Amino acid sequence: MKNNIEKACFLKLTQRIVSWYDLYRRNLPWRETQDPYKIWISEIILQQTRVDQGLSYYYNFIKRFPTVKELYRADNDEVLLYWKGLGYYSRALNLHKAAYQIVEEFNGKFPKSFSALQQMKGVGKYTAAAIASICFGEAVPAIDGNFYRVFSRIFADEFDVSSTKAYPYFYQLILPLVDKDRPGDFNQAIMDIGSQLCKPKNPDCEHCPAKQECRARNLNQVEMFPVKKKKQKVEILNLQYYFIKYKNDFLIQQRDENFIWKKLYEFPTLIPDDWKEYVSLEKKVQHKLTHRTLNITFSRIDVQHENIFEDLSSQYSYIKVNLIQAQRKTFPKPLESIIQEWG
Ligand code: SF4
Repeated sequence: MKNNIEKACFLKLTQRIVSWYDLYRRNLPWRETQDPYKIWISEIILQQTRVDQGLSYYYNFIKRFPTVKELYRADNDEVLLYWKGLGYYSRALNLHKAAYQIVEEFNGKFPKSFSALQQMKGVGKYTAAAIASICFGEAVPAIDGNFYRVFSRIFADEFDVSSTKAYPYFYQLILPLVDKDRPGDFNQAIMDIGSQLCKPKNPDCEHCPAKQECRARNLNQVEMFPVKKKKQKVEILNLQYYFIKYKNDFLIQQRDENFIWKKLYEFPTLIPDDWKEYVSLEKKVQHKLTHRTLNITFSRIDVQHENIFEDLSSQYSYIKVNLIQAQRKTFPKPLESIIQEWG
């Protein structure tokens, strides 16, 4: 901000943003509390997930794990089960690891500052700022994609939001605007403005509390912001799974490697070469993740003799399950569909 007039102008903008929040904020269950545990859970659920989709997960998760100690005591499989269908399962595994850190390393005390919160597994600058501002009144901006979009439009700022320098640049730009008395409400107001009004396409500028100051709107250049120069590369991966069934049972294994779908369950990927001729059905599925496209082939083999099924299972340490047992385990989405169809 260059001069005092501009400063005064933006002070009014801060006030208008917070007043707008008082009138139009979305009523969400995590907005009824300042419990850092609940705010943390809600923020992690809402990464990569829409509010309407995340609501029931939030309720179920908090009901089963009402405190950080309950989460710490649970086992991985159960935590994943409460995430089943939400995707991006590393979020759930990181929640579990962070609960461990809080209980074991931080003497059961939830970290209370923007910098201390970032020591928690899976908590980056955005989540740390959201918790620090909402629960502990620390005046830091919680910068995510919504913030980049809203503020690059308000300032008609051409800084490349896909650059690694975008965060420190926007942090300095937005910091003076954060309401010192109500930083949590300011951050939540921008989250709401970004998702309800200042959408990527056709923003609703008429109802926006920033419409007076918004340079992109005043220049009629809204669609030009934010500026994103780097294109995300998409990696293509081919996967082969064998759905091996004997009567009501089929074989699975737990993924262990430090790669996608870590700790989830999957079908066998290895079988003896001479088994391949017994494939009776094949299904090809394409599944898109944020930076990857997976081309998956599912091959079905129906085994006729129990001893052959048992031998294969012990040779490769596969786990034998029926449909009911499989429901207690978490599989990646495309595998869940195959279980529904072939299980
Ligand atoms: S006036 Fe329009 S473009 Fe500017 S911040 Fe508001 S919704 Fe976004």
